[in-house]
Amino acid sequence: MVTLYLTRPLVEMGVVSGERAVPVLMYHGISDDHEPGVSPYYKTNTSPAVFEQQMRTLAEQGFRSVTVDEAARIQQQNRAEKIVVITFDDGFRDFYDLAFPILKKLGHTATMFLPTAYISDSRREFKGKECMTWQEVRALKAQGIQFGAHTVNHPKLYQLPWKEIETELALSKEQIEQELGERVTSFAYPYAFPQEDRRFTKTLGEMLRGQGYRNCHTTVVGRVRPNDDPFFIKRLPVNSCDDQALLAAKLKGAYDWLSIPQVCVRRTRAWAKGGRAQTSLNLA
Ligand SMILES: [Zn+2]
Repeated sequence: MVTLYLTRPLVEMGVVSGERAVPVLMYHGISDDHEPGVSPYYKTNTSPAVFEQQMRTLAEQGFRSVTVDEAARIQQQNRAEKIVVITFDDGFRDFYDLAFPILKKLGHTATMFLPTAYISDSRREFKGKECMTWQEVRALKAQGIQFGAHTVNHPKLYQLPWKEIETELALSKEQIEQELGERVTSFAYPYAFPQEDRRFTKTLGEMLRGQGYRNCHTTVVGRVRPNDDPFFIKRLPVNSCDDQALLAAKLKGAYDWLSIPQVCVRRTRAWAKGGRAQTSLNLA
Protein backbone atom coordinates (compact mmCIF):
# COMPACT_ATOMS: atom_id res chain seq x y z
CA MET A 1 0.00 0.00 0.00
CA VAL A 2 2.79 2.40 0.94
CA THR A 3 4.53 1.52 -2.29
CA LEU A 4 1.49 2.15 -4.45
CA TYR A 5 0.11 5.28 -2.87
CA LEU A 6 3.12 7.05 -1.44
CA THR A 7 5.90 6.31 -3.88
CA ARG A 8 3.96 6.06 -7.14
CA PRO A 9 3.61 9.85 -7.42
CA LEU A 10 7.36 10.11 -6.77
CA VAL A 11 8.08 7.53 -9.47
CA GLU A 12 5.87 9.40 -11.91
CA MET A 13 7.70 12.63 -11.09
CA GLY A 14 10.98 10.87 -11.70
CA VAL A 15 12.14 11.36 -8.10
CA VAL A 16 12.80 7.68 -7.33
CA SER A 17 13.37 6.55 -10.90
CA GLY A 18 16.95 5.51 -11.65
CA GLU A 19 18.41 6.03 -15.09
CA ARG A 20 19.00 2.67 -16.76
CA ALA A 21 18.20 0.77 -13.58
CA VAL A 22 17.50 -2.88 -14.39
CA PRO A 23 14.81 -4.78 -12.51
CA VAL A 24 15.87 -8.33 -11.57
CA LEU A 25 12.79 -10.31 -10.58
CA MET A 26 13.17 -13.06 -7.96
CA TYR A 27 10.85 -16.06 -8.17
CA HIS A 28 10.90 -19.38 -6.32
CA GLY A 29 7.95 -21.74 -6.92
CA ILE A 30 5.31 -21.57 -9.63
CA SER A 31 2.26 -23.34 -8.18
CA ASP A 32 -1.23 -22.86 -6.81
CA ASP A 33 0.00 -23.29 -3.22
CA HIS A 34 -1.47 -20.24 -1.50
CA GLU A 35 0.85 -20.53 1.53
CA PRO A 36 -1.85 -19.90 4.17
CA GLY A 37 -0.56 -18.09 7.23
CA VAL A 38 2.39 -16.51 5.39
CA SER A 39 2.23 -12.73 5.05
CA PRO A 40 2.05 -11.46 1.43
CA TYR A 41 5.58 -10.03 1.52
CA TYR A 42 7.13 -13.39 2.47
CA LYS A 43 5.16 -15.66 0.13
CA THR A 44 7.42 -17.40 -2.40
CA ASN A 45 4.85 -19.00 -4.71
CA THR A 46 3.31 -17.54 -7.81
CA SER A 47 0.32 -19.28 -9.37
CA PRO A 48 0.79 -20.23 -13.05
CA ALA A 49 -2.11 -17.95 -14.08
CA VAL A 50 -0.64 -14.95 -12.22
CA PHE A 51 2.83 -15.74 -13.56
CA GLU A 52 1.50 -15.73 -17.12
CA GLN A 53 -0.17 -12.37 -16.50
CA GLN A 54 3.07 -10.99 -15.03
CA MET A 55 5.01 -12.13 -18.09
CA ARG A 56 2.45 -10.37 -20.30
CA THR A 57 2.79 -7.23 -18.15
CA LEU A 58 6.54 -7.19 -18.81
CA ALA A 59 5.93 -7.17 -22.55
CA GLU A 60 3.16 -4.57 -22.25
CA GLN A 61 5.53 -2.33 -20.30
CA GLY A 62 8.06 -2.65 -23.14
CA PHE A 63 10.57 -4.88 -21.33
CA ARG A 64 12.73 -7.47 -23.09
CA SER A 65 13.87 -10.26 -20.77
CA VAL A 66 17.53 -11.25 -20.84
CA THR A 67 19.72 -13.65 -18.89
CA VAL A 68 21.96 -12.47 -16.07
CA ASP A 69 25.04 -12.56 -18.34
CA GLU A 70 23.36 -10.61 -21.11
CA ALA A 71 22.15 -7.97 -18.64
CA ALA A 72 25.72 -7.49 -17.38
CA ARG A 73 26.96 -7.02 -20.97
CA ILE A 74 24.23 -4.51 -21.77
CA GLN A 75 24.96 -2.50 -18.62
CA GLN A 76 28.75 -2.60 -19.23
CA GLN A 77 28.25 -1.30 -22.76
CA ASN A 78 25.93 1.38 -21.39
CA ARG A 79 23.28 0.46 -23.93
CA ALA A 80 19.94 2.16 -23.38
CA GLU A 81 17.67 -0.88 -23.61
CA LYS A 82 14.61 -1.56 -21.52
CA ILE A 83 15.54 -4.94 -20.11
CA VAL A 84 14.37 -7.12 -17.24
CA VAL A 85 16.06 -10.17 -15.72
CA ILE A 86 13.82 -13.02 -14.55
CA THR A 87 15.51 -15.20 -11.92
CA PHE A 88 14.39 -18.32 -10.08
CA ASP A 89 15.99 -19.84 -6.99
CA ASP A 90 15.95 -23.44 -5.71
CA GLY A 91 15.63 -25.58 -8.88
CA PHE A 92 12.04 -26.70 -8.37
CA ARG A 93 10.45 -29.03 -10.90
CA ASP A 94 7.54 -26.61 -11.43
CA PHE A 95 9.96 -24.34 -13.30
CA TYR A 96 10.34 -27.06 -15.93
CA ASP A 97 6.66 -28.13 -15.92
CA LEU A 98 4.86 -24.80 -15.53
CA ALA A 99 7.08 -21.72 -15.75
CA PHE A 100 9.19 -22.59 -18.78
CA PRO A 101 6.24 -23.32 -21.15
CA ILE A 102 4.82 -19.87 -20.28
CA LEU A 103 8.22 -18.17 -20.72
CA LYS A 104 8.67 -19.88 -24.08
CA LYS A 105 5.15 -19.07 -25.30
CA LEU A 106 5.65 -15.38 -24.51
CA GLY A 107 9.22 -15.15 -25.81
CA HIS A 108 10.92 -14.67 -22.43
CA THR A 109 14.09 -16.16 -21.01
CA ALA A 110 15.24 -16.67 -17.41
CA THR A 111 18.12 -17.60 -15.13
CA MET A 112 17.80 -20.40 -12.56
CA PHE A 113 20.00 -20.79 -9.46
CA LEU A 114 20.48 -24.42 -8.41
CA PRO A 115 21.26 -25.87 -4.94
CA THR A 116 23.14 -28.84 -6.39
CA ALA A 117 22.55 -31.37 -3.56
CA TYR A 118 18.91 -31.47 -4.63
CA ILE A 119 19.49 -31.83 -8.37
CA SER A 120 20.28 -35.36 -9.43
CA ASP A 121 19.71 -37.91 -12.18
CA SER A 122 16.80 -39.20 -10.11
CA ARG A 123 14.08 -36.99 -8.58
CA ARG A 124 14.94 -35.28 -5.27
CA GLU A 125 13.00 -32.95 -3.00
CA PHE A 126 13.88 -29.66 -1.33
CA LYS A 127 11.59 -27.94 1.21
CA GLY A 128 8.99 -30.64 0.50
CA LYS A 129 8.88 -29.84 -3.22
CA GLU A 130 10.20 -31.85 -6.15
CA CYS A 131 13.30 -30.52 -7.88
CA MET A 132 14.45 -30.81 -11.47
CA THR A 133 16.71 -33.60 -12.67
CA TRP A 134 19.97 -32.93 -14.55
CA GLN A 135 18.28 -34.20 -17.70
CA GLU A 136 15.62 -31.49 -17.36
CA VAL A 137 18.27 -28.88 -16.57
CA ARG A 138 20.18 -29.80 -19.73
CA ALA A 139 16.98 -29.64 -21.81
CA LEU A 140 16.31 -26.13 -20.49
CA LYS A 141 19.89 -25.04 -21.14
CA ALA A 142 19.43 -26.13 -24.77
CA GLN A 143 16.40 -23.77 -24.88
CA GLY A 144 18.41 -20.77 -23.69
CA ILE A 145 17.84 -20.85 -19.93
CA GLN A 146 20.94 -19.79 -17.98
CA PHE A 147 21.98 -21.61 -14.80
CA GLY A 148 23.84 -20.29 -11.79
CA ALA A 149 24.90 -21.73 -8.44
CA HIS A 150 22.90 -21.48 -5.23
CA THR A 151 25.35 -23.46 -3.01
CA VAL A 152 25.33 -27.25 -2.59
CA ASN A 153 23.15 -27.73 0.51
CA HIS A 154 21.35 -24.36 0.70
CA PRO A 155 22.69 -23.58 4.20
CA LYS A 156 22.58 -20.29 6.07
CA LEU A 157 26.08 -19.34 4.93
CA TYR A 158 26.36 -16.58 7.52
CA GLN A 159 26.40 -19.21 10.28
CA LEU A 160 29.17 -21.30 8.70
CA PRO A 161 32.97 -21.07 9.03
CA TRP A 162 34.64 -19.60 5.93
CA LYS A 163 36.18 -22.96 4.99
CA GLU A 164 32.70 -24.49 4.64
CA ILE A 165 31.40 -21.44 2.78
CA GLU A 166 34.29 -21.82 0.35
CA THR A 167 33.35 -25.48 -0.26
CA GLU A 168 29.65 -24.66 -0.78
CA LEU A 169 30.56 -22.04 -3.40
CA ALA A 170 33.18 -24.14 -5.17
CA LEU A 171 31.45 -27.51 -5.38
CA SER A 172 28.10 -26.19 -6.61
CA LYS A 173 29.86 -24.27 -9.40
CA GLU A 174 31.97 -27.26 -10.31
CA GLN A 175 29.06 -29.68 -10.52
CA ILE A 176 26.89 -27.46 -12.72
CA GLU A 177 29.90 -26.88 -15.00
CA GLN A 178 30.48 -30.63 -15.28
CA GLU A 179 26.82 -31.41 -15.94
CA LEU A 180 26.28 -28.63 -18.48
CA GLY A 181 29.73 -28.36 -20.03
CA GLU A 182 29.86 -24.57 -19.69
CA ARG A 183 31.31 -22.01 -17.28
CA VAL A 184 29.16 -20.91 -14.36
CA THR A 185 29.74 -17.33 -13.25
CA SER A 186 26.51 -16.42 -11.45
CA PHE A 187 25.61 -17.04 -7.83
CA ALA A 188 22.53 -16.43 -5.70
CA TYR A 189 22.90 -16.15 -1.93
CA PRO A 190 20.46 -18.45 -0.06
CA TYR A 191 18.19 -16.87 2.57
CA ALA A 192 18.40 -13.22 3.64
CA PHE A 193 21.62 -11.50 2.56
CA PRO A 194 23.47 -10.12 5.64
CA GLN A 195 23.90 -6.69 4.05
CA GLU A 196 24.48 -5.04 7.42
CA ASP A 197 27.77 -6.93 7.94
CA ARG A 198 30.10 -5.17 5.50
CA ARG A 199 33.10 -7.24 6.55
CA PHE A 200 31.25 -10.49 5.77
CA THR A 201 29.85 -9.30 2.43
CA LYS A 202 33.26 -7.97 1.35
CA THR A 203 35.02 -11.25 2.16
CA LEU A 204 32.23 -13.22 0.46
CA GLY A 205 32.55 -11.08 -2.68
CA GLU A 206 36.32 -11.60 -2.75
CA MET A 207 35.89 -15.35 -2.31
CA LEU A 208 33.31 -15.54 -5.11
CA ARG A 209 35.53 -13.48 -7.41
CA GLY A 210 38.53 -15.68 -6.58
CA GLN A 211 36.55 -18.77 -7.60
CA GLY A 212 35.63 -17.29 -10.96
CA TYR A 213 32.16 -15.98 -10.18
CA ARG A 214 31.23 -12.63 -11.66
CA ASN A 215 28.19 -11.75 -9.59
CA CYS A 216 26.15 -12.46 -6.47
CA HIS A 217 22.38 -12.09 -6.47
CA THR A 218 20.88 -11.20 -3.10
CA THR A 219 17.54 -10.77 -1.36
CA VAL A 220 18.16 -7.05 -0.91
CA VAL A 221 15.23 -5.25 -2.53
CA GLY A 222 15.70 -2.81 -5.38
CA ARG A 223 16.80 -2.51 -9.01
CA VAL A 224 20.35 -2.69 -10.36
CA ARG A 225 22.08 0.54 -11.35
CA PRO A 226 25.04 0.65 -13.76
CA ASN A 227 27.67 1.27 -11.07
CA ASP A 228 26.31 -1.15 -8.47
CA ASP A 229 28.64 -3.79 -7.00
CA PRO A 230 28.09 -6.97 -9.08
CA PHE A 231 28.62 -9.02 -5.90
CA PHE A 232 25.67 -7.28 -4.23
CA ILE A 233 22.88 -7.44 -6.79
CA LYS A 234 19.49 -6.31 -5.56
CA ARG A 235 16.35 -8.09 -6.71
CA LEU A 236 12.59 -7.57 -6.65
CA PRO A 237 10.72 -10.43 -4.95
CA VAL A 238 7.59 -11.43 -6.86
CA ASN A 239 4.72 -13.74 -5.87
CA SER A 240 1.00 -14.31 -6.46
CA CYS A 241 0.17 -11.05 -4.67
CA ASP A 242 1.78 -8.97 -7.42
CA ASP A 243 -1.06 -7.81 -9.62
CA GLN A 244 -0.45 -5.72 -12.73
CA ALA A 245 -0.38 -2.39 -10.85
CA LEU A 246 2.01 -3.60 -8.15
CA LEU A 247 4.37 -5.30 -10.60
CA ALA A 248 4.40 -2.24 -12.86
CA ALA A 249 5.21 -0.05 -9.82
CA LYS A 250 8.08 -2.35 -8.78
CA LEU A 251 9.49 -2.31 -12.32
CA LYS A 252 9.48 1.49 -12.30
CA GLY A 253 11.42 1.69 -9.04
CA ALA A 254 8.71 2.02 -6.42
CA TYR A 255 10.46 -0.60 -4.27
CA ASP A 256 13.96 0.86 -4.59
CA TRP A 257 13.62 2.75 -1.32
CA LEU A 258 12.87 -0.48 0.59
CA SER A 259 16.52 -1.48 1.00
CA ILE A 260 16.94 1.44 3.43
CA PRO A 261 14.46 0.23 6.11
CA GLN A 262 15.57 -3.34 5.25
CA VAL A 263 19.17 -2.60 6.27
CA CYS A 264 18.07 -0.64 9.38
CA VAL A 265 15.98 -3.56 10.65
CA ARG A 266 18.81 -6.01 9.96
CA ARG A 267 21.40 -3.78 11.68
CA THR A 268 19.21 -3.52 14.78
CA ARG A 269 18.64 -7.28 14.86
CA ALA A 270 22.35 -8.00 14.32
CA TRP A 271 23.25 -5.60 17.12
CA ALA A 272 20.78 -7.33 19.47
CA LYS A 273 22.13 -10.79 18.58
CA GLY A 274 25.80 -9.81 18.63
CA GLY A 275 26.32 -10.54 14.91
CA ARG A 276 28.36 -13.33 13.35
CA ALA A 277 30.75 -15.20 15.68
CA GLN A 278 34.16 -13.55 15.39
CA THR A 279 36.02 -16.88 15.45
CA SER A 280 34.33 -17.98 12.24
CA LEU A 281 35.87 -15.02 10.40
CA ASN A 282 39.14 -16.92 10.41
CA LEU A 283 39.68 -18.13 6.84
CA ALA A 284 41.98 -20.97 7.82
ZN1 LIG B 1 17.03 -20.56 -2.11
